[in-house]
Amino acid sequence: MSKVTTTDSLSQATRQDGYQITVDLDKCISAGPCSIAAPLTFLLRDSDGKAIISDPDGDPLESVLEAARSCPILAIIIKDKTGHQVFP
Ligand code: SF4
Repeated sequence: MSKVTTTDSLSQATRQDGYQITVDLDKCISAGPCSIAAPLTFLLRDSDGKAIISDPDGDPLESVLEAARSCPILAIIIKDKTGHQVFP
């Protein structure tokens, strides 16, 4: 499984396909739709309900992009393997 780094302010991991997922935990308001769009990738942690990455390869890329689009405050940032930001 890909390595996930979670600190107070972000949760970040790179998928096997090279796409990097970052959740800005300072912004996250625990709204939850990300964990519905990509339930095996994002997990709302018990302590504060913020979304951390549980398994970056848990869902197809399209579901991860859908999760990012569903976030009301755009706290999920997706970059491709060249480092180009594809969302938001
Ligand atoms: S949708 Fe956005 S605000 Fe809601 S839990 Fe996920 S990252 Fe946080």
